[in-house]
Amino acid sequence: MTEMLINLYDLSDAELSALMAELDQPAFRARQISEWLYKHKVATFEAMTNLPKALRQQLAVKTRIGSFEQVAEQHSVESATTKRLYRLADGQLIESVLMEYDDGRRTACISTQAGCAMGCIFCATGQMGFARHLSAGEIVEQVIHFARLLEREGERLSNVVLMGMGEPLHNYENTMRAIRRLNDPNGLNIGQRHITLSTVGLVPEIKRFADEGLQVGLAISLHAATDAERNALLPINRRYPIREVLDAARYYVQKTGRRVTFEWALIRGENDTVEQAERLGTLLRGLLCHVNLIPLNPTSGYGGAPSDPERVDAFRATLARYGVSSTVRVRRGIDIQAGCGQLKTEVLRRGRRQRAAG
Ligand code: SAH
Ligand code: SF4
Repeated sequence: MTEMLINLYDLSDAELSALMAELDQPAFRARQISEWLYKHKVATFEAMTNLPKALRQQLAVKTRIGSFEQVAEQHSVESATTKRLYRLADGQLIESVLMEYDDGRRTACISTQAGCAMGCIFCATGQMGFARHLSAGEIVEQVIHFARLLEREGERLSNVVLMGMGEPLHNYENTMRAIRRLNDPNGLNIGQRHITLSTVGLVPEIKRFADEGLQVGLAISLHAATDAERNALLPINRRYPIREVLDAARYYVQKTGRRVTFEWALIRGENDTVEQAERLGTLLRGLLCHVNLIPLNPTSGYGGAPSDPERVDAFRATLARYGVSSTVRVRRGIDIQAGCGQLKTEVLRRGRRQRAAG
């Protein structure tokens, strides 16, 4: 039944206003509700104290505040990472991660799809296949839950990265609606420069994203510097080869004036040689960019291993010779399956084991 209720997080301002009109409410009620939802982040209608009781009752009959049921939570003290698994109204499972940094940043890493259609071979989400797109409300709700958690502790969520499960640019419309909602100064008020979207490299959508007139950060998952090697890791490269991806990256830089980030998962003996770093340096030289080097997070469906620290250092030093800046991203939350899609895989596996035992 609950699936029939309107999820308030899914409504745009215009749709919320239309709902108020339908309920014979004055127009300002939409704004009041919106503030309760996104500014105060209340979880119940009773908490919306400036609404007439009758309206609160009508809302409770017709609508719901979000749709998530938390299925699992894991907290790693060591890496200051909290990972959550939620069940959606139709039973799909998605993950989000909160990372707390020493410099005060509080970053939510959120999902945009249940599963993913892109099939990158080393990725736990890719190994699951695609289930469905998340609605804008389902994308936003992940942020609200972490923001609530932090506000209870007197802290504030500062950053959002769309780097969880799924390919955000494959779910273009809902992702953009969610970004605008997160950014809304009357609501969650997360600055555009504090939001980063990560893509596998969907070329037409990168250009469309660049044309949105936003200052949202862009990260592109490159992982290889030749088409043959990238084809083998990221099947989408057959459709959008490296040259076109880099053209789109240049277009983004030109339109936004912002530097673009390239992600490179370092896989032992696969894409971590000095020669490969030289090829990457040659490709990126002169482009306003930064490279994030992430030692591979091992997944059950892929045999690769993370590169050794010496290899990582040599890779970084080589890029520097080409004037390309890079950082090694600390692997956070490995102990709690915080790599994309891994907690879901683990929980499903446990479920299967329990069923087999029972
Ligand atoms: N679909 C988007 C965003 C989600 S994945 C994308 O692919 O960019 C976020 C990042 O994690 C991507 O750079 C992806 O390549 C990387 N990633 C996925 N699985 C990984 C793994 N097992 N180890 C290291 N990085 C991984
Ligand atoms: Fe999808 Fe990104 Fe995983 Fe590739 S790395 S399968 S695009 S989530």
